[in-house]
Amino acid sequence: MSHIFPRSMKSSPPMAVGGKGCYLFDASGKQYLDASGGAAVSCLGHGDTTVINAIKAQLDTLAYAHTGFFTSEPAEKLADLLIEHAPSTLDRVYLVSGGSEAAEAAIKLARQYFVEKGEPKRGRLIARKQSYHGNTIGALSAGGNEWRRAQFAPLLLDMSHIDPCYPYRLQNEGESDADYGLRSANLLEQELLRVGPETVMAFMAEPVVGATAGAVAPAPGYFKRIREICDQYGILLILDEVMCGMGRTGTLFACEQDGVAPDILCIAKGLGAGYQPIGAMLCSSQIYDTIGAGSGFFQHGHTYMGHPTAAAAALAVVNSVLDRGLLKAVQKQGDALKLALNERFVQHANVGDIRGRGLFLGLELVTDRGTKAPFDPAHKLAAKIKAAAFDAGLICYPMSGTIDGKTGDHILLAPPFIIEDAQ
Ligand code: PLP
Repeated sequence: MSHIFPRSMKSSPPMAVGGKGCYLFDASGKQYLDASGGAAVSCLGHGDTTVINAIKAQLDTLAYAHTGFFTSEPAEKLADLLIEHAPSTLDRVYLVSGGSEAAEAAIKLARQYFVEKGEPKRGRLIARKQSYHGNTIGALSAGGNEWRRAQFAPLLLDMSHIDPCYPYRLQNEGESDADYGLRSANLLEQELLRVGPETVMAFMAEPVVGATAGAVAPAPGYFKRIREICDQYGILLILDEVMCGMGRTGTLFACEQDGVAPDILCIAKGLGAGYQPIGAMLCSSQIYDTIGAGSGFFQHGHTYMGHPTAAAAALAVVNSVLDRGLLKAVQKQGDALKLALNERFVQHANVGDIRGRGLFLGLELVTDRGTKAPFDPAHKLAAKIKAAAFDAGLICYPMSGTIDGKTGDHILLAPPFIIEDAQ
């Protein structure tokens, strides 16, 4: 009997024993094409020797030093590299161990910033329905995944959730993309006015929605208007690029494509590419300096933050993505994969939408393309597709997102950036 506490107690997954390039292998020798990089993690594929050697060299030098006592060379170099390429508003990097930790740190930083700035009434976060920011209590409170939130409702923080920018379902017939982008962004202003802008500290959103909706990119102009509203009412913009960042959409940061620069940005997944657990929260010097000139201490932290070995891995990953021209590869292979999905499925009765950016693509499944009616949740369609694909040696990521109780089934594809045409 296994003593592992698995994610699902109703299944017994095979034992993974190896990985090479875009493939994983189980103990029976079966090969799987990793078409979702786990959950959009393995951007360099498996067995990348550059990253492995960087980790080995760091272990030989220094595995770990607590950030309460030391900084380390890989952490400093990683922070420099990220800031060199990040939107110009961002100036400081707080290294953590994953996406939920990055989101949690972002929420707490926003709150502490306003306390130290002398605006202690600002404590409310506005986020969006059908979003995901992680599984810890703060991040789960910000997220709008009804299924994940349901049984923890009494523990969750009071936050606002507005409709996401979700063209397939929420754009009106005959409404232009630009008009929809504007109308959707203006929901933030309406919510600010409803709750009282002086009580709000930040708006938090994924530039391209991943884990709840399958690669939903915003309508044009959406984030520009969001930025304007944030500035007008003096609230911070937190962008969560844990899934869509680090090159996944074809630019190092997804928000570059929307011409928007946040005050706080979260990254993880592709940052460590699966070689080490690592995430980061980037913030502006305005936030950093306000706290620096006040208490001078961010009331937050984790034992493994700024981990030298994880930082060395991430440094090698980000340098590989930049130096090997992988952003271009993502754009090229993303276009090719989207075209292939369209050729294959655009007429399929049960495929309502094919969407996404770069190698971050989603299919939305419906019972009828005309009515866009979703499948009955009891059908567990996305889970069934995952299982059938897995049997056939293909890993894709299923998800069921919900808006106001209405469920939709989605399949996410997020293969490694090194994926080849035939694969
Ligand atoms: N934020 C986003 C946008 C995510 O997609 C995820 C994970 O899927 C998280 C946060 C949480 O990251 P982690 O699972 O590393 O805690």
